[in-house]
Amino acid sequence: MEDRWRESCYRDKQALKQERKEYDESKAEKNTEEGIKMATCEICGKTVNRTKKIKIDRVVLEVCDQCAVYGEPVEETAMPTSTAVRTQRIFSQKKPEKAIKEEYVLVDDYPDRVRKARQHLGLEQKDLAKMINEKQSVISKIESGGFQPDDALVKKLEKALKISLRDKV
Ligand SMILES: [Zn+2]
Repeated sequence: MEDRWRESCYRDKQALKQERKEYDESKAEKNTEEGIKMATCEICGKTVNRTKKIKIDRVVLEVCDQCAVYGEPVEETAMPTSTAVRTQRIFSQKKPEKAIKEEYVLVDDYPDRVRKARQHLGLEQKDLAKMINEKQSVISKIESGGFQPDDALVKKLEKALKISLRDKV
């Protein structure tokens, strides 16, 4: 007797669950329908079933078919927002750095200039190396043209040898 009651109770619960599930599904469907109906054109404000993504002056807008002619169609998969943002960030970071580097360039005959200035001051490679806190091998490589000194090293050499190794662009 008790078993049967329990069984029927279980069945009821299952039925209720199934009903509930169906109800949720229909609700979800309804929501999606409403979501599509709610789409609004960002240009004319008209409510349409489906909006198109277009680009005007790098701004992406969701618009109706009529307004889509005002811009270029956007392929949603072509460039994800994250990539676009990242690319933009790289560009904005690189610009100032490049501008600074373009002001001065290392002269082509820097090996000669360093060697001549050093000899003019009566210094050995190791003396110059000590003055600018570098290894003698670094001076040797610079004077043979086998090593291009970076900005910091160029500045140290210019100061120690009282010469200019850069040209203004
Ligand atoms: Zn429109």
